[in-house]
Amino acid sequence: MSPRVLVVGSGPTGAAYARLLLEQVPDVSVLMVEAGPFVTTPPGMNVKNVPDPVEQAAARLASQGRSHESGVSGIPGGVVVEGTITARQGTHLIGRAAEGSAGMPAAAGATCVGGQGVHWTCATPAPTGPERVPFIDDAEWEQHLATAEGLLHVHRPSFDGAPQAAAILERIRGEFASDGITVRPLPVAADPREDGSLRWSGTDVVLGPLAEGAHADRFTLRAQTLCVRVLREGDRAVGAVLRDQRTGAEEEVRADVVVLAADALRTPQLMWASGIRPEALGRYLTEHPLLFGVVAVRPDLLPPGDGGTGPADPIRAIIAIPFDEERHPYSAQMMYSPVSPVPLPEGSRFRDNPAGYVGMGWGIRKRPRPEDRLTFEDDRPDENGLPGIRIAYELTDVEEADFERARKHQARAAAALGEFVDGMPKVMPAGSSLHYMGTVRMGPADDGTSVCDSFSRVWGVPGLVLAGNGLIPTANSMNPTLTSVALAVRGARALAAELSKEK
Ligand SMILES: Cc1cc2nc3c(=O)[nH]c(=O)nc-3n(C[C@H](O)[C@H](O)[C@H](O)COP(=O)(O)OP(=O)(O)OC[C@H]3O[C@@H](n4cnc5c(N)ncnc54)[C@H](O)[C@@H]3O)c2cc1C
Repeated sequence: MSPRVLVVGSGPTGAAYARLLLEQVPDVSVLMVEAGPFVTTPPGMNVKNVPDPVEQAAARLASQGRSHESGVSGIPGGVVVEGTITARQGTHLIGRAAEGSAGMPAAAGATCVGGQGVHWTCATPAPTGPERVPFIDDAEWEQHLATAEGLLHVHRPSFDGAPQAAAILERIRGEFASDGITVRPLPVAADPREDGSLRWSGTDVVLGPLAEGAHADRFTLRAQTLCVRVLREGDRAVGAVLRDQRTGAEEEVRADVVVLAADALRTPQLMWASGIRPEALGRYLTEHPLLFGVVAVRPDLLPPGDGGTGPADPIRAIIAIPFDEERHPYSAQMMYSPVSPVPLPEGSRFRDNPAGYVGMGWGIRKRPRPEDRLTFEDDRPDENGLPGIRIAYELTDVEEADFERARKHQARAAAALGEFVDGMPKVMPAGSSLHYMGTVRMGPADDGTSVCDSFSRVWGVPGLVLAGNGLIPTANSMNPTLTSVALAVRGARALAAELSKEK
């Protein structure tokens, strides 16, 4: 019989599983279910490519889940407060701080076809040194990374023909050259258009031909369909209970393999709801705490303007200083834009700065600890009736020491370009990176400190595979999507081999 795979969640990692399995196993069929609605055409497209700002705003609002309708998210004042708390740009708050731990007031995610891949900024750095998963062979990892870069359409900007971007790069390079610190353009997931602008990648490019109707006889994407729990027979996962969010009707769907790709908060929530509760579930929560500032660029530094990336997105250049354990043990990203990325107060001397602004974020590593964790409350459910998510999370002296050191590097970069605007830099509220990791971490052995093996298979539950940032077990200072898609490539290849063998 043809194998059947159920993928829960339609973000980049779920999409990678669907595409690779359909391409590699000739008779496999894939049902992908997504709790949220379609918000873009083609499905999963990055909203930054939508030219009409009203349509863009509508797509963002439609991705903000059901909690803003019902008001039961538990966060007073609604769900999204742009720029002031965790949720932004098409996301909504998920969970809330556990009693006694104010470390992370809430997390955030998107609920729509394409997941956060419809809203992301497209920065695609690769992990460096201790950020890499230590128990995956380096040569093999490079292959998965290359495939992941292909799936996401990663592009390495040269800044040729972009004199302002090139000038900023050279200033920062000059500042750090004597320390031996690498400064380079940041790879982004995007396709250059003929006019020099970029078409930003969304989950649509990961789906690739699937987003255009390929394999229609073997691939189905059902929107507004919530997975309520995974079904098991003995230890084995055999399908799931699915709920139509429009009618509330529930049905049981059988599958040979279930892939949970429902983000780092809701994948462990589903496992908990399904009675799959290994010791490490929800633990070792990390993100990369962020020191963020906006610099008003000195007008004398830049040559006349260049064309930019298109009217819908003002970002002209992204420059990165990667993690370097000895010289620069954090990651920096600097984005140049003619408009300030934060609102500037009336009367600020930095308003309408003629040379534009550089938003500079220094991401530091949060060391994984079992006590930084999600817990799930069956008696205080979320807006979907799934167990309520509580977040216990604290920074320690280790992270504070990193911040102190990062401040010095950031201050040097700022001084090389201009001056920080009012109230900057500042440590962003915990959770605002949107990059939650570790909650379903992978590990080399089933020793209670991991949820799945290095092929993303849940320990002791055959037929259950995980995907997403929650799998990343290391302390990571940079954007995780490329890493998570590479882990999905590895898991999907192993699963494809298994399904092909079983026939
Ligand atoms: C504004 C913004 C900027 C970002 N910028 C970057 C960046 O520059 N670089 C980077 O690397 N990352 C960035 N990210 C993060 C990036 O988008 C995520 O890492 C990536 O989308 C994760 O992919 P995923 O497939 O694991 O999960 P997601 O994209 O989060 O998708 C998970 C999907 O699962 C669905 N789901 C959840 N529970 C259920 C359920 N029970 N049943 C059915 N469906 C369910 C959700 O609705 C969601 O659509 C950004 C995110 C945002 C919001």
